[in-house]
Parts: sequence; C-alpha cells; structure tokens
Amino acid sequence: MTTEQIKTVAVLGAGTMGNGIAHVFARVGYKVILSDVEQRFLDRALDTIGKNLDREIKKGKLAEAEKETVLARVKPSADMAAIADADFAVEAVPEKLEIKRAVLAEADRILRPEVIIASNTSSISMTTLAALTKRPDRFVGMHFMNPVPVMVLVEVIRALQTSDGTFAATMELAKKLGKTPVAVNDAPGFVSNRVLMPLINEAAYCVMEGVATPEAVDAVMKLGMNHPMGPLELADFIGLDVCLDVMRVLQEGLGDPKYRACPLLKKYVAAGWLGRKSGRGFYEYAR
Ligand code: NAD
Repeated sequence: MTTEQIKTVAVLGAGTMGNGIAHVFARVGYKVILSDVEQRFLDRALDTIGKNLDREIKKGKLAEAEKETVLARVKPSADMAAIADADFAVEAVPEKLEIKRAVLAEADRILRPEVIIASNTSSISMTTLAALTKRPDRFVGMHFMNPVPVMVLVEVIRALQTSDGTFAATMELAKKLGKTPVAVNDAPGFVSNRVLMPLINEAAYCVMEGVATPEAVDAVMKLGMNHPMGPLELADFIGLDVCLDVMRVLQEGLGDPKYRACPLLKKYVAAGWLGRKSGRGFYEYAR
C-alpha cells in the first residue's frame, strides 16, 4: 500500500499515546478510527484531544473554527470490527506482550491484507510482534514520543521481516504528520531507550552512592550538557516503573551487566514511588 492510498487510519488503544497519535493524524486530514475496550476510555481520549487542540489554538497554531473539523475526523469505537475500513493501523495498547498478541491477532484478522500494521511499543521486539501476524512484511515500528502532538521525532523501526515498501511508506507517512522520522533497526530499546535509560539509571546510581543530590545531578545535565530536563526529572515524568521495565528489557536482550538496573530505582518502584503519577519519585509533587 502506498502512502497516497492511505486515507483512514486505525489507532488501537486510546490511552496516553493513542489519543496523541489520533490527534496528529486527524490534525493533518486523515480520518481516524480510534479503538479501545470501553467507551469511557474513548470519551477521555476525545476530551484530551479537545484540550490539546485548545492549546494549539491559544498558541496561534490552529484556527478556532478548525477544532470541530479535526475532532469530527476521529470516530471512536469500542468494537474493533469498526477498523475494517482502515488503510493503515497503529497499535498503542498497554506494554504487555499478551495484550499485544491478542490485539494484533484480531487486527490482523479484520484489516485488509495489504494494510500495514505499525506498533508504538517502547521495548518489545518488533521482530517478535511481526511474527505474531500473518503479514510480517507489512509490519513496522512507529515509535512516537510523549507528548505526541509536541514531539517531532518518530523512530521508524524495521523488524527483520519488514519489506522495503512498508518501511518507505511509513517513513513517508511520518513526514506527512509533520514529524521527522529516523530509521532504526530492531534491537532492544531501539536507539531512544537504549541511550536514554542507561543515562537515567546512571543518574540514579549517583544519587544512591551519595555522589550528588537529585537536584545537583539534574543541574549538571541541564546547565552543563544543555539537556532541557534533567535525567531524574525526566524519569519521574516517564514513570520509574516504566524506566525499570526498560532496563530489564535491555539487560535481558543484550545480556551485558552494564544494563543492571540501579537498586535505588528498584527500591523506589517497590515503595510505589513511581514519579509524577504517584506524587513521589526522585522528587515530591503536590497532588
Ligand atoms: P496507556 O495505558 O495510557 O493506554 C493503553 C490503552 O489501550 C488504554 O486506554 C487501554 O484501555 C487500551 N487497551 C487495552 N486493551 C485494549 C484492546 N484489547 N483494544 C484496544 N485498546 C486496548 O498506555 P500508553 O502509555 O499510551 O502506551 C501505549 C503503548 O505506547 C505501549 O506499547 C508503550 O510502551 C508505548 N509508548 C508509551 C510512551 C509513553 O510515554 N507513555 C512513549 C512511547 C511509547
């Protein structure tokens, strides 16, 4: 399927990433079928898309009159059968292999055979996911960054089985969204998490060993390395549980002891200190 033939996109999962992915497709004119398991998740996603469009209006990036047009392009459905007309699909369901397995099997059954399925997984092997479908050559990774409407990067990840045509069409599609696609081969953590998570992990070791306070570690990286956010601030934003899971994926997938998760990170997760979402991580947040 060429990029020009793509008019309708299915987004599977309407959570943090799914609503952002639906937003960016609808924003540039694609029809979107947004699928989730319950109506309340779809309602929440449409509400978030509306609020994020309001933000763009305030910044002068979108005309007020266009908001309803963009929103009207998103058709929510709690029944996955509704994705049958889609010309491209992006999977953004929770990061659990069993859930992805079930959703991909269903999508594979419903979607026309020529339709490309992209996964937004952060850490599961694209090659493994491609092998779960009957269209492994039409399977690819499309790794958007959070928050999707704001972040410019899309890592386009090539599974072992991904065809040249699928890869080229996906790179092209990401450009149509106004994003900058970067080509990456399938490997644990791809490039983004392979580089970012060991940085966060090392920052946690610095705190654990008493080298510096979290504030000092973040100040060094912001002021000295020009990072817009310090690694520990960023870890709290991402979720310490997510960071720990990715370190485990790197250690298991690459086998090198240098990917050993920092014991302090494990301890915080065990305590339920997951970062912003739980009110406490490396920092405390007013709730
Ligand atoms: P989330 O938990 O916010 O959203 C997942 C959504 O999928 C939920 O609304 C859930 O109800 C829905 N869902 C569950 N089962 C489903 C099914 N069978 N059919 C349709 N929908 C179903 O998760 P998220 O943070 O949006 O992450 C989604 C994916 O994106 C994961 O693979 C994650 O690794 C990846 N990702 C996340 C981030 C991030 O910063 N959150 C960044 C990049 C990639």
